[in-house]
Amino acid sequence: MVSLGQRRPPPGDLAALAELDEAALLAGLRERFLQQHIYTDIGDILVAMNPFQPLPLYGREVSERYRRFQTDALPPHIFAVASRAYHAMLGRGGGGPRNQCILISGESGAGKTESTKFLLQHIMNLCKGNLQLEQRILQVNPLLEAFGNAQTVMNDNSSRFGKYIQLRFQKNTVQGAKLSEYLLEKSRVVQQDTGERNFHIFYYMFAGLSSEQKEIYGLLDPSLYRYISGRFGTQEVAEQWKHKYQEVCNALDMVGFQEQEQVDMQAILAGVLSLGNVTFEPEESNGSVKVSEASRGWLKAAAGQFGVQEDELLKCLICTTSVTRGEQIQRFHTQQQAEDARDSIAKVAYGRVFGWIVCKINELLAENVDPEVELREIGILDIFGFENFAVNRFEQLCINLANEQLQHFFNHHIFQLEQAAYKEEGLPWETITFNNNEPILNLLLAKPIGLLSLLDEQSAFPQATDKTFVDKLNSSFKGNLHFQPARGRVLGFSIIHYAGKVQYAARGFLEKNRDTLPANVRGLFISSITPLLSVLFTATISRTGTLMPHMKAKVIPGADEKFNSTRKQSAGAQFRHSLMVLMERMYSANPHFVRCIKPNIQKEPGVLDDQVVLLQLRYNGLLETIRIRRDGFSWRPSFEEFAERYGILLVKPGVPLTKESCLEILQSTGLKGWICGKSRLFFKYWHQEQLAKCVEQLERAAVV
Ligand code: ATP
Ligand code: MG
Repeated sequence: MVSLGQRRPPPGDLAALAELDEAALLAGLRERFLQQHIYTDIGDILVAMNPFQPLPLYGREVSERYRRFQTDALPPHIFAVASRAYHAMLGRGGGGPRNQCILISGESGAGKTESTKFLLQHIMNLCKGNLQLEQRILQVNPLLEAFGNAQTVMNDNSSRFGKYIQLRFQKNTVQGAKLSEYLLEKSRVVQQDTGERNFHIFYYMFAGLSSEQKEIYGLLDPSLYRYISGRFGTQEVAEQWKHKYQEVCNALDMVGFQEQEQVDMQAILAGVLSLGNVTFEPEESNGSVKVSEASRGWLKAAAGQFGVQEDELLKCLICTTSVTRGEQIQRFHTQQQAEDARDSIAKVAYGRVFGWIVCKINELLAENVDPEVELREIGILDIFGFENFAVNRFEQLCINLANEQLQHFFNHHIFQLEQAAYKEEGLPWETITFNNNEPILNLLLAKPIGLLSLLDEQSAFPQATDKTFVDKLNSSFKGNLHFQPARGRVLGFSIIHYAGKVQYAARGFLEKNRDTLPANVRGLFISSITPLLSVLFTATISRTGTLMPHMKAKVIPGADEKFNSTRKQSAGAQFRHSLMVLMERMYSANPHFVRCIKPNIQKEPGVLDDQVVLLQLRYNGLLETIRIRRDGFSWRPSFEEFAERYGILLVKPGVPLTKESCLEILQSTGLKGWICGKSRLFFKYWHQEQLAKCVEQLERAAVV
């Protein structure tokens, strides 16, 4: 009998399975996973199962083995994807140099961010000549994770923002990097669900700062702060955080942040925490609110940490001042409004620090080459997977919209392009049915009657409420197959997404979409004596993702007024715009897909829960993919292209670039399974490797 350890795993490429159904795919993945083969190819798509344990798969020697373009003889690996993208970017393997994008998807905790890190690590090993920049690029992740990741119930290191990293190359040397971030979950700063934490950096700070430093920043015992209280860990955890804090400081230094900037940043974070402890009580005399006696000290501390006047900060919290016909009108807040203003200020301050870090990274890692030089790029997208929680809010809607877009891109690439090409060339082809999600995208994005447009329309009416928004949706989408009104008196609606039905709670949609800065906050922070805080509220971000002073930005046409403007874009419109830019980039590049899968929800090594995995295979469209990859032809050179490249196999001069020559070449190689169309040839993805081998043999024979 053969023991499990000695049994040969199923093939690394499941597109080669004889039987093709859900059960076979699952069984194949399961067996490989249990033998610690976490990577599996489905044609040229990589499936990565999260092992939930460190595996010796990523060392320098492994990276060396996967340097080559042709990695088919090696087991599937994330490094192989990086190599393919890198060599294809350089134009090796035909088709000329081209931009590449690697799209990593999967649900929370599936391993997207880890995969991104391995990709970056391997690509930095592959490229040559700019060691310092390579090192700095590798520091970007620890930095972003400290400020943008947090412990959630799904993942101890969950990314609470999406990111697209573009690595820019001049030939094989990296010249720069650019980062785009999507939808930081700012609400986490002021509120976390049970079992979850605030952003890592707050905890790292407490664990890593010396007592003297804490005193300088006015930080007291961590258990006192409402925004992070009750969520402090054991001594062991604190040690880890301390270490992480050092890592962040090193990363800040290495990437090039100045000391004063780092000091300011920490002062702002301390200000956010103190502000969170300010509470309010009714002012008996005039029916308004005041800061409760017990929290006066926290207000003072926050003002000090932010570098602003205490009474100015107080004003922003307890009243709204507006100017009508030259007259200043003060409207006092209710207790709820004062609490909301406090939380909004905390969120906006944190959000801007994060946005500024990203801008700064972009400035520091921008390429410094002659504009004439043409750069190629590899983009890596690590973005939140589909979400369906007990309560789904505006953020979930945006996240799920992004996933609909990505699924559409995937479908477009894998299915539509493929089928269109076959049809054009008159190939026999049994149409593969797939879940086309275009109607859902229309429901969300159409103008003027799409969900986001209706939300914007309602957000512009001062009298509109979440209820009028829902009424508007119900009347506009009556009968739409992908929309369901809520039952009874529930304030919400459901959307039937490509990955299933999600019920959204409409409360807060309008306010989140308006994303207005509490009155006078901008002025308050501009007047701050903390230079960074003042910059954060005076600056704007250009389309190139760099930070520039507001005055300058005014005269630059097309400046993206993300930070501030009088006519501010709604949160929905901003997100839609950034998604559009992302999609444009991706549609113009050569894509590679990595599908991450979480084998169980307990985060345990060696355990695979069939139901958990099956659901993800369905959401990911992997079954349809496997079929199209097995039946389909992913490489389709024109006759001319093919004859030019492989004419040498005929070992004679002046091979004409015709269909006949192509057929002669193919006959000489004995390759099977290709098809000849009207203007081009159709090959399976593995044919390219086989042809490369033929050329290699020929060249070797010539040398001998
Ligand atoms: P989120 O959407 O919440 O950000 P994610 O898909 O980015 O989730 P990761 O943070 O990459 O998930 O992975 C979650 C955890 O799983 C990691 O912190 C790590 O412990 C483990 N993990 C993921 N991939 C690997 C791997 N290849 N080897 C070892 N452990 C891994
Ligand atoms: Mg992540």
